[in-house]
Amino acid sequence: MSLEISDHSLPIVGRARIYVCGITPYDTTHLGHAATFVWTDIAVRVLEASGLRVDLCRNITDVDDDIIAQAAQRGVDYRALGTEQTYRFQKDMEALGVTRPIYEPRSRDYIEEVVALAQGLLEKDRAYQRNGSIYFKGENILPYLGKLSREEAIVLARKHGGRPDDPEKDDPLDVPLWQATPCTDPLDAPEPSWSSPWGEGRPGWHAECSAMSMTLLGNSIDIHAGGSDLKFPHHAYETAQCEALTGVTPFARAWLHIASVCYKGEKMSKSLGNLLYVKDLTQRWRPTAIRLLLADRAWDEAWEVDLSHLDEAENRLENLWKAAGRSKNSEVALAAALQALMQNLNVPKALNIAEEAGGQTMRHIGNLLGIL
Ligand SMILES: [Zn+2]
Repeated sequence: MSLEISDHSLPIVGRARIYVCGITPYDTTHLGHAATFVWTDIAVRVLEASGLRVDLCRNITDVDDDIIAQAAQRGVDYRALGTEQTYRFQKDMEALGVTRPIYEPRSRDYIEEVVALAQGLLEKDRAYQRNGSIYFKGENILPYLGKLSREEAIVLARKHGGRPDDPEKDDPLDVPLWQATPCTDPLDAPEPSWSSPWGEGRPGWHAECSAMSMTLLGNSIDIHAGGSDLKFPHHAYETAQCEALTGVTPFARAWLHIASVCYKGEKMSKSLGNLLYVKDLTQRWRPTAIRLLLADRAWDEAWEVDLSHLDEAENRLENLWKAAGRSKNSEVALAAALQALMQNLNVPKALNIAEEAGGQTMRHIGNLLGIL
């Protein structure tokens, strides 16, 4: 039986490779982040239950515009801020029963690999140098726009910090693989920078994930996960860069784009200030109830959270526990519940089958999903 993701069958033999775009460690972990990592964890557990070894890589984006700006604002070193926030994130993940990945690379440890990626793309004429920065040519992204028009892509790029109006660029859709460090006032805190064949600089955001993924999991992966808001530009560029370099397609065989969690009518986001932090929620509700709330639904449908849902999740959890306590065993129900999980990770269906069957079936499925 092979896993199906979005009606796309994904036969895998022996080892599954999963890459999930991790956090930028400056302000974590809200419920939207948690949804991404709980769902990735469920995909891992389901694949492991089917007999595969799963190599999971969850990166930490500790070099990027946001964290550098936050560190400067707080007057701390970006590494100190990153380490502290990564620790908090890991504690939140532990509380939610998310298994620690095998690989947890930090961007700042993959500078040489980003330089090699940029060099390789320059040699293939897929990139160009301008004043110490290396840009990946926007024409490379055109086959990866999907249903987006060029204009829509530019709007999204601007929204996600892509600076399409940067006068250095030949095309608004060019993105930096490597960006030269700006000359700053000597009294200002220096930006993190490393030496490269093109002078001092730092890696571009998409290039960081391309480099970490290829280094740790090879030239292609089975499942790439991440929040649905990363679809474009981040994942499109990450894919285009890897495929342009290696010629290996597809870079990712399947995508797990976890749908947004909305709160008070809008997608949960820092800029809107409508965030629910895991560390606050765990003061009032059991972490397993929070996990259940995130997982007992379709992973690819955006939803609106209300605090009353957490009370409902507590009740649902009680009922599942009661079902698990019954002394019954049904191999047929267990097989049906496992099959539901293999079909696009249908957790609600698997839980309903397990709850009805009760006993050993419920215990098995509950353990698999990390809620018992
Ligand atoms: Zn990424």
